Amino acid sequence: MIVVMQPDATEEQVGRVVELIHELGLKDHVIHGTDLTVVAVIGDDRKKNGTVLEQVPGVDRVMKILAPYKMAARETKKQRTTVAIGDTCVLGGPHVGIIAGPCSVESRDQILQTARKIKAVGAHGLRGGAFKPRTNPYSFQGLGKEGLELLAEARAETGLPVVTEVLTPAEVDLVVEYADCLQIGTRNCQNFKLLEACGRQPKPVLLKRGMSMTIDEYLQAAEYVLAEGNEGLILCERGIRTFEDHTRNTLSLSAVSELRFRSHLPVVIDPSQGTGHARLVPDMCRAAVAAGADGLLLEVHPDPEHALTDGAQSITPEVLSELMDSLRRIAVAVDRDLVRNEPEAEMAGR
Ligand code: PEP
Ligand code: MN
Repeated sequence: MIVVMQPDATEEQVGRVVELIHELGLKDHVIHGTDLTVVAVIGDDRKKNGTVLEQVPGVDRVMKILAPYKMAARETKKQRTTVAIGDTCVLGGPHVGIIAGPCSVESRDQILQTARKIKAVGAHGLRGGAFKPRTNPYSFQGLGKEGLELLAEARAETGLPVVTEVLTPAEVDLVVEYADCLQIGTRNCQNFKLLEACGRQPKPVLLKRGMSMTIDEYLQAAEYVLAEGNEGLILCERGIRTFEDHTRNTLSLSAVSELRFRSHLPVVIDPSQGTGHARLVPDMCRAAVAAGADGLLLEVHPDPEHALTDGAQSITPEVLSELMDSLRRIAVAVDRDLVRNEPEAEMAGR
């Protein structure tokens, strides 16, 4: 933290700032510049409420220097975290993980057909919502427990691990029984009780960025999960709200590089919620892999015209098949690959 004094601040006012810094249990380093004085605060001030220093007459502003998150930060952990979802999908290592499937589990036939088809083209994980966070209370809300059972059946047949959303702390235990990875949706990214509940269970967590959240707020949300002891955390950029209305959201691909720079956690891109249009999804997948994304979470439906949710942004298994070919080539160009992932014993999130 750095306290910037006003140009006409007196020595007494600087002294008061120093006194309060000591009260906070921290050390000071006063720097007299030609135009103004700044006081550098020395020590870990993340748990201190340093903004109160702005109350001292003569203070211009207080600037935070340390990232407000610790466990999620790259300074804390130099090596990248790899997170294994089941036995076939490892994110954060040399392989790019492809997690595909419908927005919602709709029927036995739909999820089994999808799982078989995405497996055949080389996907590493199956996604599908059983509990859906819907904007409108009258929209299809998902099949609930039945959806989870169908996902488990699809996993048993194909061997693909399952990523599925959990909406409330009360449903965490139920979803953990069936899922290989718990998805926390964009609308719940700052549901702190849900973050904590997911941090206290053993399965990996895929945390979508809140649609109106800054990167710092997002990494602080991640910190809630990590702070409860769950290291198997995957970040997922899924687009943010902007003025643009040609796309459902604005997919922030620079977030891949920025999140990987700020944090050691794997970063996945969801180009389906990110664009809202199936025609845009393949290009964004390619761009994401080129940008260094550790994986993709994308919506694939065998019959998008009849999808109960997010049909407009769902690609078909046939489109995925073609896409996988170009993704393989792009992955190699950025020193990655798309081979079937084999988790190693020491990886987090098992
Ligand atoms: C989804 O993955 O279908 C979904 C609801 O995602 P988000 O929370 O990113 O909107
Ligand atoms: Mn969706």
